[in-house]
Amino acid sequence: MHHVAIDAWLREDDPARLAELWAAADAARREEVGDAVHLRGLIECSNHCRRSCGYCGLRAGNRRLARYRLDDATIRACAREAQALGYGTVVLQAGEDPAFDRDRVADLVRAIKDDTGLAVTLSLGERDEDELVAWRVAGADRYLLRFETADPALYARIHPPAPGREAVDRQDLLRRLHGMGYEVGSGIMLGIPGQEIDDLARSIALFAELRLHMVGVGPYIPHPDTPLAAAPPGPVRGDVRTTCTVIALTRLTCPGVNIPATSALATIDPAGGREAALRSGGNVIMPNVTPARWRAAYAIYPDKACIGESARQCHGCMKARLRRIGRSVGRGPGAAPAYHRSREVRA
Ligand code: SAH
Repeated sequence: MHHVAIDAWLREDDPARLAELWAAADAARREEVGDAVHLRGLIECSNHCRRSCGYCGLRAGNRRLARYRLDDATIRACAREAQALGYGTVVLQAGEDPAFDRDRVADLVRAIKDDTGLAVTLSLGERDEDELVAWRVAGADRYLLRFETADPALYARIHPPAPGREAVDRQDLLRRLHGMGYEVGSGIMLGIPGQEIDDLARSIALFAELRLHMVGVGPYIPHPDTPLAAAPPGPVRGDVRTTCTVIALTRLTCPGVNIPATSALATIDPAGGREAALRSGGNVIMPNVTPARWRAAYAIYPDKACIGESARQCHGCMKARLRRIGRSVGRGPGAAPAYHRSREVRA
């Protein structure tokens, strides 16, 4: 889709016209990836973080957060639980926690692969080349790292570098992950204070330029214990409508990618957020399989959806929701068509 058309859609506010856009993206989604929705079991391994991102409740300076770190046996048990629930993938996510070092994560990936054979996605922040290579060699399939905003000045304002380190160029890191053979996911938050509409258009263009395989788009939710919470909102709205529009434009621009209905969207609209995303281009959900006692502490933003539920309860709820909108549960690892295509080109 052309940049000018994208920009016009991002400024459109006629509900009937937007509904047409979402329907076109829904049709493209069906054509490319079918009606199956892949469920990824999310394991929130640690809320320790060395970084000070302006928006995130896990930021190092947040003294009000009780910190936890799951041990390897617990993480492996979570992965087995995901497998028992029929999921094809586990996602290991955490703050940038140096305790999850190169060898520990490599061993963990190998153990999960041995135990379950599931696809493994890592989302452990900006990590060194040797770590990322070692994890890929150990069998990690995918890496998730959002670039958050396409605006370099806004990006720099809300992402101070790790202590004692230079700033990392996330877009460059995403290109290197691609080169290592990872299935690469990225994405943005919508409604970061100071984010302009053009940032969204530029981000959608970047999803294509970076040849991403997965694109996550979710509303920014202010966390009271972060500096960004004091900033006035605008001009982009982090609401369900804007999120669905960006998801739809992403599906139409990059048809073969996987697009999750994010937990942040479910948080701002528990009754219908996920469904709205799945009907405007989305095809993935990431149900939480973190043991209930630690869920509330992974507070990247406040009042996260589903923090009181067990993995099994989340699973039942997701299946019922999918049935109600005429979608089925995906089987197998559920790699994106865009990933299969990029492998064919390479071979
Ligand atoms: N440390 C990892 C994982 C971060 S949590 C990393 O940096 O990649 C995953 C995503 O949650 C982030 O990429 C960000 O887009 C989102 N997130 C963090 N704080 C948020 C907030 N206040 N509102 C909405 N989304 C948020």
